[in-house]
Amino acid sequence: HKYSSEDIKKMVADENVEFLCLMFTDINGIIKNVEVPVSQIDKVLANKITFDGSSIDGFTRIEESDMLLHPDLSTWLIFPWGSEHGKVARLICDIYTTDGEPFAGDPRVNLQRIIKKMKDMGYSNFNIGPEPEFFLFNTDDKGNPTLHLNDDGSYFDFSPVDLGENCRRDIVLELEKMGFEVEASHHEVAPGQQEIDFKYEDALSAADSIQMFKLVVKTIAKQHGLYATFMPKPLQGINGSGMHINMSLFDGDTNIFDDENDKLSPIAKQFMSGILKHARALTAVNNPTINSYKRLVPGFEAPTYIAWSSKNRSPLIRVPAAKGKSKRVEMRSVDPTTNPYLAIAAILDAGLDGINSSYELVPEVKENIYEMTEEERAADGIIDLPSTLHNSLKALRKDEYVQQSLGKGLTNSFFAAKNAEWAQYQQTVSQWERDTYMPLY
Ligand code: GLN
Ligand code: MG
Ligand code: MG
Ligand code: MG
Repeated sequence: HKYSSEDIKKMVADENVEFLCLMFTDINGIIKNVEVPVSQIDKVLANKITFDGSSIDGFTRIEESDMLLHPDLSTWLIFPWGSEHGKVARLICDIYTTDGEPFAGDPRVNLQRIIKKMKDMGYSNFNIGPEPEFFLFNTDDKGNPTLHLNDDGSYFDFSPVDLGENCRRDIVLELEKMGFEVEASHHEVAPGQQEIDFKYEDALSAADSIQMFKLVVKTIAKQHGLYATFMPKPLQGINGSGMHINMSLFDGDTNIFDDENDKLSPIAKQFMSGILKHARALTAVNNPTINSYKRLVPGFEAPTYIAWSSKNRSPLIRVPAAKGKSKRVEMRSVDPTTNPYLAIAAILDAGLDGINSSYELVPEVKENIYEMTEEERAADGIIDLPSTLHNSLKALRKDEYVQQSLGKGLTNSFFAAKNAEWAQYQQTVSQWERDTYMPLY
């Protein structure tokens, strides 16, 4: 649905909207919001709202700190939760420079650049079905999160064990009110861990939805006196939270990843080869925090090796048994701390490289990779995903293709932010180190 400016003004009046949230996402994947009273609607619709970009991570270009917000009118949505002052609506925005150019440092603008490249190659849609996972923690009497999980349920558990269920149901209802098509929701393997899957959408909408989803989950959890976190590994010794990304290329109504025998099409295999080829560099984007790598370890259903399989879930990419329109590949390394605009752009562009270069797909791994010896893995050409943020940044440094998928400005900002994060962490001395080394040395 595309709305015109007139449609929006009519909805503002009919629904008594008082405030507009003009939303965009910084390089770290954090939602930013410029809120204006509805009296500013004409200025908003004329793309004339400015903000100072110099204090937003990734946007820092001192010489050009004034930025313009161009609302994407198709993202118009009135929030179901009210404010005491009347209704609040959102518009997701692209960032433009004051010269009237789309700002290349805006992750949403960058994703549209890669989508255009895909369209120029003759495909109409990159469909993304995300499976975000999160933990619900109890809060203390000040409302701050504790380390106590909200329940001790496990995979697909049912009430009364699953105390998070009421909260999860409310989240799902809220999402539906906002137009999400929720396909499934269930308790995950770890205590206090939940997953909600929504129906696939085109790349740009999917990235917008992921951002909205995180906001809704946190908002509703708070109403239940709980704290929701998308941190990949909040507690050691139990599963972490991933965000599997299911993907397929469409041309109109035709799923290009499917062939007539319900197998993966040759194009799908090339696409997958592109992802496998760039997998180490992609990890920096898909798993961008120090904590991301505490999840990517053996034994917790998260991948640690670069391989694919239709038989088991240990590798980076799984090809589910689904057929026809649902034929897809599932990338299992991605976690919810990723900036979805950057992740989807980089994954899509890696896949397009696979198609353009006609890469040949390596054979699938049929056995459990974790039970193979190092020699067996080496013989099959299976290499590791980077084991730390430091290693994945090094891999991104070496992969000029993935750097250009982000564009120069975003790449530079990304390295600046992430190198600083690594340096800070590296200088942190942990309790584990004191416990381990003080008694010995
Ligand atoms: N939580 C697991 C992860 O870290 C995934 C578990 C699952 O969905 N089977 O990726
Ligand atoms: Mg799932
Ligand atoms: Mg899951
Ligand atoms: Mg999955």
